[in-house]
Amino acid sequence: MKVVLASGNAGKLAELGGLLAGAGLELVPQGELGITDPVEDGHSFVENALIKARNAARLLGWPALADDSGLIVDALGGAPGLISAHYAGVHGDAKGNIAKLLHELRAVPAERRSARFYCCLVLLRNKDDPQPLIAEGQWPGVILDAPRGDGGFGYDPVFFDPATALSAGEMPAAMKNPISHRGHALAQLKTRLADWIARG
Ligand code: IMP
Repeated sequence: MKVVLASGNAGKLAELGGLLAGAGLELVPQGELGITDPVEDGHSFVENALIKARNAARLLGWPALADDSGLIVDALGGAPGLISAHYAGVHGDAKGNIAKLLHELRAVPAERRSARFYCCLVLLRNKDDPQPLIAEGQWPGVILDAPRGDGGFGYDPVFFDPATALSAGEMPAAMKNPISHRGHALAQLKTRLADWIARG
């Protein structure tokens, strides 16, 4: 089944495409089909993922997959949350976003720096699909007081995973992918995919 991936992010395409190839879905990035992201004006990750998937499904008439993800920091009341990608003002400015995050947390001790990455995946059969497949995943961790490692993207260098005692920026992709929020959401999506296709 050909599915449009409602994301312009090359990293996500590589991650999602590899994991879903064996599940019978061929992902085609929306950029190759001339589609750009709509305004993400939802109030939750799931709303924004639905907005992105529905936009691509509406414009193409294909099934669509979208993800929306972000970092939730408890001591900051859930920020940066939905605005994770442009927390410091400029979309995708990872260095600026990390600098702002560390500044906001400057007076917060290690034991109160708990956080989690969250990912929501939405798969729609068409723009009017009343029964989308919605999968989610979380990855609990702690925000460091300085970056460690230069792998990954976004907030990875300041996100410490207590289970491995590494920052996400210190992990090779093969270690990060299965334990990450996106990995958990994908695993959930895959276990439910055959049933979802059969019901279609
Ligand atoms: P979006 O899902 O493309 O709207 O953007 C989510 C934003 O959350 C990214 O730009 C990153 O700043 C952050 N983010 C989401 N997942 C990760 C991750 O695995 N590592 C680091 N940052 C992430």
